[in-house]
Amino acid sequence: MRKCIRCGAEMEEDFKFTGGYGNVIRKKGLTGKAVYPKAAVCPQCGEISIYVDEEQLQKLID
Ligand SMILES: [Zn+2]
Repeated sequence: MRKCIRCGAEMEEDFKFTGGYGNVIRKKGLTGKAVYPKAAVCPQCGEISIYVDEEQLQKLID
């Protein structure tokens, strides 16, 4: 569970980025390891937090 860094409320998680190349970030350019970030939104103040889930984090370690 993620807490909002602004107001401390519990955030809604698991929002996915959609649309073209906007949903992937890569280390070391186009051929580097890709991770797919997700977003969490605070229902109280609207703060958006971008994060990488555990499955994606694991891929970075391998
Ligand atoms: Zn908030």
